[in-house]
Amino acid sequence: MITSPFKTTKSEEIFAAAQKLMPGGVSSPVRAFKSVGGQPIVFDRVQGAYAWDVDGNQYIDYVGTWGPAICGHTHPEVIKAICEAAEKGTSFGAPSRHENVLAEMVIDAVPSIEMVRFVNSGTEACMSVLRLMRAFTGRDKIIKFEGCYHGHADMFLVKAGSGVATLGLPDSPGVPKSTTGNTLTAPFNNLEAVKALFNENPNEIAGVILEPVVGNAGFIPPDGGFLAGLRELTQEHGALLVFDEVMTGFRIAYGGAQEKFGIRPDLTTLGKVIGGGLPVGAYGGRRDIMEMVAPSGPMYQAGTLSGNPLAMTAGIKTLELLRQPGSYEYLDRVTKRLSNGLLQIAKETRHAACGGQISGMFGLFFTEEPVHNYEDAKKCDLTKFSRFHRGMLERGVYLAPSQFEAGFTSLAHTDKDVDQTLEAARAVMGSL
Ligand SMILES: *Cc1c(COP(=O)(O)O)cnc(C)c1O
Repeated sequence: MITSPFKTTKSEEIFAAAQKLMPGGVSSPVRAFKSVGGQPIVFDRVQGAYAWDVDGNQYIDYVGTWGPAICGHTHPEVIKAICEAAEKGTSFGAPSRHENVLAEMVIDAVPSIEMVRFVNSGTEACMSVLRLMRAFTGRDKIIKFEGCYHGHADMFLVKAGSGVATLGLPDSPGVPKSTTGNTLTAPFNNLEAVKALFNENPNEIAGVILEPVVGNAGFIPPDGGFLAGLRELTQEHGALLVFDEVMTGFRIAYGGAQEKFGIRPDLTTLGKVIGGGLPVGAYGGRRDIMEMVAPSGPMYQAGTLSGNPLAMTAGIKTLELLRQPGSYEYLDRVTKRLSNGLLQIAKETRHAACGGQISGMFGLFFTEEPVHNYEDAKKCDLTKFSRFHRGMLERGVYLAPSQFEAGFTSLAHTDKDVDQTLEAARAVMGSL
């Protein structure tokens, strides 16, 4: 916790230099704090539930490097395993037994996965799974949901228009219309909109891809029946159902959202947690579909560093820690205290707020109305969130620097950390 006055001199110095060297001073946009304003904090080191910045401030970290640090940062067993693996080589470019071990763990854990291919990021997993959806069905169109993030591949960078059957328009310059023209969008939790898209595009839709619990528009769980409805609709229309579990996989349950909600997709993407803090992504699913992937089948997809022995090792160790009995019960209990506490304090300090959690994933919106989709999320009081974020930062709590991001806890977060967080929240919300 911050005991001395909050000082950011060194962070400012380093970030100023970074801005001359790298676009926006960062290697990934959200890190720049653009949506909350103010200077980003430059990290020096992380351990357990904590992060320390270059000025020596200590934070309780609820970002956890955006999810992977679910056992706590720099868990000694993970670090030890990585060091041992490094002595045998940092990259093979040839088969290794580590891949078998992690593949087996993933297949055992995730209900829909019968075969898996490792890649290096969630983005890669999603762009590969899209190619596979199209290769398997022989259809080009896909349906995604407004506010869901599937990495930065061209085909997914689509802003939904006002209508339901909006033709995909490029979200970012550099993405040609021809690339996104086959990406149809619907509001999350709106089964009727998906039905309409299927009826308007008969036999043309390869599949539906979604975050089964949205984390990239803030935390938005699926309404009852939504996932089951998508399962039925896709089956009815000969299309595939794909869960992007890059965030939720091994996060909201050991078997991901598909275990939690009992819905079996055809294909699944993974990332974040399965790399244990090193760069890993994966996609997997039904054997008959996965056998289309080269060299077993004709759909090409490759990677120089894919299945990297260090990354596989970090993933294996992380999953070993997670599968110990009680892990998810612990995450759920600690996170529920945090989430309920924040909502209670908001109520007492007269701020309209809603939010929730599943296991070690949570969210808080400053809004009167419940949030079911991205449109609802956009109606939140973003200015209030920015001030809340800054206030918490100055009191030693590191929250995701955007209202449109979920928060994460870890096995290293204690009740005492939650108490200190709530104490800070009471002070900050009391002064907003
Ligand atoms: C983070 C994320 C991605 C992208 O993963 P990267 O490793 O950042 O490329 C894709 N889908 C979801 C649901 C994510 O949360």
